[in-house]
Amino acid sequence: MSQSFDVAVIGAGPGGYVAAIRCAQLGLNTVCIDEWKNPQGKASLGGTCLNVGCIPSKALLESSENYERAAHKFAAHGIKVEGLSMDVSTMMSRKDKIVAGFTGGVAMLLKKNKVTSIHGRGTLLKSVKYDVSNVLWQIEVKNGDKADTVEAKHVILATGSTPRQLPFAPVDNERILDNAGALALTETPKRLGVIGAGVIGLEMGSVWRRLGSEVTILEALPGFLMAADEQVAKEAKKIFTKETGLVIQTGIKISGIKTGETITVEYADAEGKAQQLEVDKLIVAVGRVPNTAGLGAENVGLRLDDRGYIAVDSYCRTSLPNIYAVGDVVRGPMLAHKASEEGVAVAETIAGQAGHVNLDTIPWVIYTSPEIAWVGKTEQELKTAGIAYKGGQFPFMANGRARALGETGGFVKVLAEANTDRILGVHMIGPYVSEMIAEAVVAMEFAASSEDIARIVHAHPSLSEVLHEAALGVAKRAVHI
Ligand code: FAD
Ligand code: NAD
Repeated sequence: MSQSFDVAVIGAGPGGYVAAIRCAQLGLNTVCIDEWKNPQGKASLGGTCLNVGCIPSKALLESSENYERAAHKFAAHGIKVEGLSMDVSTMMSRKDKIVAGFTGGVAMLLKKNKVTSIHGRGTLLKSVKYDVSNVLWQIEVKNGDKADTVEAKHVILATGSTPRQLPFAPVDNERILDNAGALALTETPKRLGVIGAGVIGLEMGSVWRRLGSEVTILEALPGFLMAADEQVAKEAKKIFTKETGLVIQTGIKISGIKTGETITVEYADAEGKAQQLEVDKLIVAVGRVPNTAGLGAENVGLRLDDRGYIAVDSYCRTSLPNIYAVGDVVRGPMLAHKASEEGVAVAETIAGQAGHVNLDTIPWVIYTSPEIAWVGKTEQELKTAGIAYKGGQFPFMANGRARALGETGGFVKVLAEANTDRILGVHMIGPYVSEMIAEAVVAMEFAASSEDIARIVHAHPSLSEVLHEAALGVAKRAVHI
């Protein structure tokens, strides 16, 4: 006899485990099913984000940035470092410990909230009608040879995404790496190639460049970071190539890859000229695809959209009654905080409350040095949409805190609607903008004008003054420039 629940969540990434906890908080009897195993073969909750995504990548970014500071930046403070060296295995153990702490923490949180946690692959089987008001979805949970079934009135699908593969660059995570392999290298490669100048390519490229690799990033699109504001992308490319030392080639077309003692990438450059790149390791980071493998969509007639995502409306409702989907497996940005907020919204909807996520105010952060962060529309999007706007901009170079930090590259730009002054977008490149973007998100959620930010007192000296001055700049009254 199968166990019966109010809600079954499939996937325990930031979308699924957060949804499960919120369901339990709202009094719903909840089960969370997840199949992730760590390299030691043990169940490990937290999905991509905690195991091979957000958290391990940020741990390595921090370690490598500290090394970079000690090697190149401490001298300006009068701090002399002699005999500096990097122990990659200690850096990796630190990262693994942080990951283990969080994945174990999710298990504890589920237990504390009385969520039943089951390890295994969840597959939708069918709906079973016990009576008019009691229709339950049946899910098979398979773990090795062992198979069980659970039943639930509501189902939340949070099965995430997997790396997009290139047929000519098969990932073995020994020499041709996806995100998991790039986060688990045991030594710094002398020459590292990266296919794709997106978020993963730039973050992982930065880690290994700082530790001494020669890093070449090959990008198919003619432009650089095309989702970001053009001016921010231009500034980023300048800093990443001139200061960070990344080699970035855009507009390339790869024709093949040869593996022997080294890896040779054959490609045509932006002018169509045949080129070769010889590297010791190659990261493939060309985007991610929604993960619906083995979910049983075909068993129950769950509709996928033409790009393979589970089709949902703006409330994350799928084509089937009482089945919802959240996170990377549905439309919208593939970001952990977006997944979690959708999980919360769905849990609240199931409990009869009003749950909704505003996809227009999801912040984006790229954790390079300097960091890049934005929310809302870019200048090019506003121009394309024919929306009249005003802009204000202020550089970190003119900010006291940034000077004291020795991190003066970049700027903040505020874009506001021309007539109403309502903020439409905020774009940042500079130190700790990952933290600063929250003020812009709050402002936009409260439909603030640039004048609202301009009239708020910002602590001095702080990096937040750069946002303040950029907002003042919209009315052409920035003070310190
Ligand atoms: P996932 O985290 O992918 O979790 C899905 C879970 O479902 C997995 O555990 C999977 O094993 C399980 N599963 C799948 N199918 C089944 C099934 N049938 N049965 C049982 N279990 C199943 N985002 C940010 O916001 N900030 C960052 O800094 C950031 N850094 C990243 C760095 C890297 C290298 C990568 C790869 C991603 C990063 N992301 C970041 C993106 C972020 O990891 C994802 O957006 C987020 O994990 C999506 O959450 P999710 O719950 O939808 O899916
Ligand atoms: P991405 O979409 O950010 O970048 C992929 C890049 O690869 C694009 O610029 C694309 O044009 C390029 N590309 C595609 N095919 C190519 C080819 N054949 N040759 C050369 N270039 C090619 O994807 P990603 O870097 O793999 O990251 C996946 C997702 O994970 C991101 O979109 C983001 O949602 C998430 N993520 C977020 C963070 C963060 O929030 N800081 C960090 C890492 C990953």
